[in-house]
Amino acid sequence: MRVLIIEDDLDIAGNLYEFLEGRGNVVDLARDGVTGMHLAVSGDFDAIVLDLGLPGVDGLGLCRKLRREAMQDVPVLILTARDLLDDKLAAFDSGADDYLVKPFALREVEARLNALVARRRGRVVNKRLRYEAIEYDPDKLAVTVDGRSVHLSRKCLRLLEMLIASPHRVFTRAELERELWGDEHPQSDSLRSHMHMLRRALTDVRGNAPIETVHGVGYRFAVIDGRQA
Ligand code: CA
Repeated sequence: MRVLIIEDDLDIAGNLYEFLEGRGNVVDLARDGVTGMHLAVSGDFDAIVLDLGLPGVDGLGLCRKLRREAMQDVPVLILTARDLLDDKLAAFDSGADDYLVKPFALREVEARLNALVARRRGRVVNKRLRYEAIEYDPDKLAVTVDGRSVHLSRKCLRLLEMLIASPHRVFTRAELERELWGDEHPQSDSLRSHMHMLRRALTDVRGNAPIETVHGVGYRFAVIDGRQA
């Protein structure tokens, strides 16, 4: 990300600059409020780290101008020695997004900046897959049905992973068998018995499991009314 540091303390500014740049960010530095404001309104930054006590325009004034006059919504993290509640409230009132009191850990600055930037981009990633009552978390290999966790064998998990990622698509038996057993030839009813186990595990409180048998072809994930197909 591109970060603008507005800080007049040379040591703090230098440490921040070095750390953030070393972590792969593009960093710019302003050592007074006027220069800071000038750079900030350019709109080239993903986030701004802002000191409150600055020569020229102070941090609060800068933040307020940035929001109200320049109409910039770039995330602003305040970094300051002022730790009174009133100072914090004034900062948020001026349009700051977050507030960290000196002394601080550099890694915490980075973590907070990352969170601010991710939130702004709407990139808070939720990789979990959901279909009706069923939720699958591929990172944890965890499955829940109506919020209750369900244990599945590796092969059943693999089946669920394929089906839930492409609801309504029909998967042929050959395709599913190849995915589960590769070139080995499974026994003729292996797929059917795994599908049976999967269906049973995924059955919700109303007695439905969203796996439909497409006769003579294969299976698909689909809403099923009443009893299982
Ligand atoms: Ca200062």
